[in-house]
Parts: sequence; structure tokens; C-alpha cells
Amino acid sequence: MQITSDIFQIGGTGERGALSDPADASIYLIKDGKQSAIVDSGCGGGTERVLENMKACGVEESDIAYIFLTHCHFDHTGGANALRKATAAKIVAHEKDAVFITSGDKNVTGAEWYGGHIAPTPVDIVVSGNKKEFRLDKLSVTMHHIPGHSPGSVVFTLLSDGLFVLFGQDVHGPIGEIILHSNRSEYQKSLEFLLTLGADILCEGHFGIYHGKEKVRKFIKSFL
Ligand SMILES: [Zn+2]
Repeated sequence: MQITSDIFQIGGTGERGALSDPADASIYLIKDGKQSAIVDSGCGGGTERVLENMKACGVEESDIAYIFLTHCHFDHTGGANALRKATAAKIVAHEKDAVFITSGDKNVTGAEWYGGHIAPTPVDIVVSGNKKEFRLDKLSVTMHHIPGHSPGSVVFTLLSDGLFVLFGQDVHGPIGEIILHSNRSEYQKSLEFLLTLGADILCEGHFGIYHGKEKVRKFIKSFL
């Protein structure tokens, strides 16, 4: 499912139903030649379909340079190990969530809650701090730390077709302060930050794709 000339949804639930495993959060493809990237990986049950969908967009396994993980939760990361093995990608995550991904923590990732299993998954690029830029081929992707839903939650932004696109996977939460290590006051501050970005398109993890600054703003504001 095409979103802009560079961005496609290749997993999760689309307008016409499940594109991969129904338990998967959205998986997006940033198509940029030999430096293409995938945002989040689903829970792993639909990896074959994710790869088929990717190829249907004209992208091969060897074209994937990065798997950008928005946070450690199982429905976003359970498939990362298999996708990493199938492609040329380096996994990117924030240090505050990387620890739960590399250890395959079944509680903080929510794998146990989903009745699944997360393999200990190497994180090749562990990011610290608030912001980091990744140069693809012609596109540039910026990672922003937005703690709250999890300690190391991040969003990714890029300009595509002149539109400011925000990959904000679990903007809606939820907040699970005990098992998920969520923090409500950090989450609220992060939502305020997301509003300042003024994105034209929001690619969400479970609520679809929002087009237009006003719709994006309204969705983010509804959780404040
Ligand atoms: Zn989550």
C-alpha cells in the first residue's frame, strides 16, 4: 500500500485487512535504492508475507540497509531477528529499549502478554541522546527520542514528496507503568513535542495513516 512515492505499508493491518500477521503493528518500507529501510518488524508470524510485500514494491532483501525499531514491544520487534537475517540490514534502536531487545525480555517487550516468544535480537546501532540523523541514498531520516510509552520509544521523520512524514508507532500508548516501564508524565511531554513537529502525514502503529496537518494534530491531541 503506497503512502508517498518513497513510503509503503508492507505489514500490519491496512485499509483492506491484514497485510501480514494480524497481531503485527504496522510495518513500513522507505524505498531509497540500495539504502532502503524498514520501520518496525511485526511480531514475526508474518515475516514471509512482509518480504513478499516488500518485493512487490520493487525492493530486494539486499537493498535494506536499516531496520528502524520505534520501541521494544513485541508487536513491533518480534520479527526483527528474522528480518535482519533475511536482509542486509542493521537494526537501529534507542539504548533505553535496546537492552530489552537484545536480552529478549518477555515481560517488558510484552511477548508473554501476546503469548509469543522474542528471540534475543542484536541491535547493531544503539542510539543514545535525543536525536540522530540517518542518511539513506537520497533521503534523510531523523530519529527523535520520545520516552513515555516505553523508556526508549522513538519516532522517525523524513521529507517525502515535499511532505513531512512522522512514523509515530504507538502515539496512542498505552501506559503500563509496572510491566512496560511506561512513564505517564514523560509520555505527555513527548506528545507535546510531537505536536511541535507539525507533520503532514502520521504513520501510526495500530490506527492507520493520517493525512493532513489538522488530522495528525487532532489525533495526537486526543491523548493529551
Ligand atoms: Zn508499544
